[in-house]
Amino acid sequence: MDLKRKRSREAADRPEGGLPGGTAIACFRCGLCCMRYQPPVTVDEAEAIAAALEMALDEFLDRYVDDRWFEPGVFLLDTDDDACVFLEPAAEGRPVLCRIHGLRPQACRDWQPGLDKKECLEALERDWGLRASPSGKLLGPREGVGRFRAFVRSLDRGG
Ligand code: SF4
Ligand code: SF4
Repeated sequence: MDLKRKRSREAADRPEGGLPGGTAIACFRCGLCCMRYQPPVTVDEAEAIAAALEMALDEFLDRYVDDRWFEPGVFLLDTDDDACVFLEPAAEGRPVLCRIHGLRPQACRDWQPGLDKKECLEALERDWGLRASPSGKLLGPREGVGRFRAFVRSLDRGG
């Protein structure tokens, strides 16, 4: 995977990003953004995640940080099978999970799902056969839109 930093919503590149205007959408946990970008992690964030994983900072850096990246005071999370090392793949109908969700770095917190994000649009079409109008309306077969909405509601309920 190329070294690409996961960008904040504000920094998202509009020409690549799809629709102008930034239409909010619920994250449907496809994981594509976690496969496309490597989030930067500050030293403080690395220490907090390492502590939660009950490991020393050096061990954390050895195991989970991309050693190709060098920028003083900032690390990039490493990848495994072309996805963030902390992404737990989807299985048996379950969507992807972030294994450090409560401690995910600020870059991941800043990333907001939206119809202005090419990753969200790509997964919407790939996984659900749906597109979005410039005003943010879901386009596709009525049944598909209904299934998608039901799925998102199930995530809201902790599915
Ligand atoms: S830390 Fe979690 S939210 Fe951030 S890229 Fe990795 S899996 Fe995705
Ligand atoms: S690409 Fe969009 S829908 Fe998929 S996990 Fe990322 S924010 Fe959520």
